[in-house]
Amino acid sequence: MMRSTDPIRTIKGVGAKTEELLNGMGVYTVGDILSYFPRDYRIMPDPVKIADVKENAMNAVLARTANTPRTRRGRRVSVTVCKASDGIREIELVWFRIPYVKNMLTPGKNQIFYGKVIRRGGNLVMEQPVIYTLDSYAALTGRLLPVYALTKGISNGAIQKILGQILPEEPAFPQDPYPEDLRERQEILPLSDAIRTMHSPRDMEALSIARRRLAFDEFFEFLLGMQYLKGAGEKDPNRFSFADRAFLEDLLSKLPYELTEAQKRVLKETTEDMRSDTLMQRLVQGDVGSGKTVIAFLLMAWCSKSGYQSALMAPTEVLAKQHYETIQSYLALCGLSFPVILLTGSMSAKEKRTAYEKMQTGPDALVIGTHALIQKKAVFSSLALVITDEQHRFGVKQREALSKKGDKPHYLVMSATPIPRTLAIILFGDLSISVIDTLPADRIPIKNCVVGPSYRPTAWQFLQKEVAAGHQCYVICPLVEATEQTEAENVADYAARLSEALPDHIRIATLHGRMKAEEKDRVMEAFLQKEADILVSTTVVEVGVNVPNATVMLVENAERFGLSQLHQLRGRVGRGDAQSYCIFMSTRDDEKTNERLSVLNHSNDGFYIASEDLKLRGPGDFLGIRQSGVLDFQIADVYQDAPLLSKAQKEVKDLVEADPDLSDPAHVLIKQRLDAVIQKQLEGLNL
Ligand code: ADP
Ligand code: MG
Repeated sequence: MMRSTDPIRTIKGVGAKTEELLNGMGVYTVGDILSYFPRDYRIMPDPVKIADVKENAMNAVLARTANTPRTRRGRRVSVTVCKASDGIREIELVWFRIPYVKNMLTPGKNQIFYGKVIRRGGNLVMEQPVIYTLDSYAALTGRLLPVYALTKGISNGAIQKILGQILPEEPAFPQDPYPEDLRERQEILPLSDAIRTMHSPRDMEALSIARRRLAFDEFFEFLLGMQYLKGAGEKDPNRFSFADRAFLEDLLSKLPYELTEAQKRVLKETTEDMRSDTLMQRLVQGDVGSGKTVIAFLLMAWCSKSGYQSALMAPTEVLAKQHYETIQSYLALCGLSFPVILLTGSMSAKEKRTAYEKMQTGPDALVIGTHALIQKKAVFSSLALVITDEQHRFGVKQREALSKKGDKPHYLVMSATPIPRTLAIILFGDLSISVIDTLPADRIPIKNCVVGPSYRPTAWQFLQKEVAAGHQCYVICPLVEATEQTEAENVADYAARLSEALPDHIRIATLHGRMKAEEKDRVMEAFLQKEADILVSTTVVEVGVNVPNATVMLVENAERFGLSQLHQLRGRVGRGDAQSYCIFMSTRDDEKTNERLSVLNHSNDGFYIASEDLKLRGPGDFLGIRQSGVLDFQIADVYQDAPLLSKAQKEVKDLVEADPDLSDPAHVLIKQRLDAVIQKQLEGLNL
């Protein structure tokens, strides 16, 4: 009998090599692959005649090759070209970096070529077509096809094959943790039905119902986890005493700019917290560029002046280093000489040891770092304040671990993710909330435009022009590399095409989430040091980095991103003195998409944008468009599923009230899930 805890290699056809690849995707057991949900779904189009293809879209063409494929070395990549004909018209097929594609062509026989069609010169060109036999293609049409996130060596078909063996086996599914009455009250599907539907949905509606169940689960577990991790909810007494506020006033007079009213208000709220009877536990929400770092600096300096240490934790090395430099320069501006310590994972053992020592000998040090701050070896001597920047990247437990480092310090979270207050109260129940709702006045507004792919050559020329003027540019693509069955731009192929199109001296770097952390940091650092002119990247650049010399943000397939996410991306430019530009390239030319994207044209207010985004989305829009980043839920979307979030909150509240230690036999599975969640959080901590 197959069980969800069985190792994945017990599945027929999964050998040692496949197992290793699956492990790399976080799949170890049968249960793991059941919850490895599709990233997207697609419906394969019916094959068309070449005369009927739609430009700038995915097409399936029934044709046969009309000449011998030729592979040439392009300037940087190999390019394989071949003509295909359906007897009436011809289309050119182009593959980058896959010369072996030749072996998959069967001259003289009809095949299906599936890929994106563009017009180059006067000719139709299909890029990176996937090749099917007529039969294999016919088997794919007429249903919703799951599209999984893949790694090299594991195909979409391979995952479907494995699942094909598991889905019919009921005992392989995890048991539903909820009692019947809860399921009825919330009108949610049994767990195994929901999982099964996610992998092979009958139609859109079935999918939507299945997704709802799983989103509920994520919220429920998250909120339950918070309840038990948070403890009793009593605020701890404040044992610290801080210097006079006059010190802060003095610093303010030395800054190169005046704080905005919103910054002043947040400074007041936080300093009042820190002088109150209990410890501060506060969330500061401030749009990108609203100036949160200076608030961190002021509070940290105030700690030093009062004889205490403070810590600022950032989600990436690059960001930590940037904060380190910024804070040093602010201290210099203010004529202060408190010790500043940097602690990151990539530092050598010797550098780390030096940092640890300084933490022991500097009772008034400002400590800045990454996750390395919560490692066992990092011991603070007099920690009074912990600040985490871009909080959504950290788990609840991680922020708790950091605040446990000292003897219960004050605690501040800074986030650029605009979450409406009502949601924030649920998601960060234990935190007070401040909002920085205005931007510094002296900014040069970013020039925005929303365009279609026919504008791309012009956009590329524009990138070239900006680079010639000494500036740098970002290009964002939704995907890392080409996968079967997808038309969206990917970093690898895009960078290849761009480097073919632009002059050789323009340096193009790539960045994506599959790279190791050190690799990412190296690329980002190189971009920061102006060693690359154009950075082609996935949305990993969205977190807080500051490259003031970057003046263009070009987002490909903008229609696939949530507006909040696009707003965050836009926040990467417009940080220096030069005029900056944001180009949203949309391949979907319908009224609804245009209306959504045009919100970005006339607003620069993250909260407004998030709420408009929500309004403009229809019920079928839950796929494809997602806001990444907000607490990293896999399926649930904090904005779209807000009503579900309140429902889960009520269930959790009632449950905890009725059965605080979850000892009722009806709750035994819920208790097990909770223990698993806590265990996972602890493992993630790596203490
Ligand atoms: P974020 O809130 O996105 O973290 P930062 O703290 O990085 O924003 O600030 C963005 C830029 O704005 C920095 O260059 C900072 O020096 C500048 N800045 C912050 N506050 C003000 C202000 N009141 N007036 C003018 N510039 C400011
Ligand atoms: Mg920031």
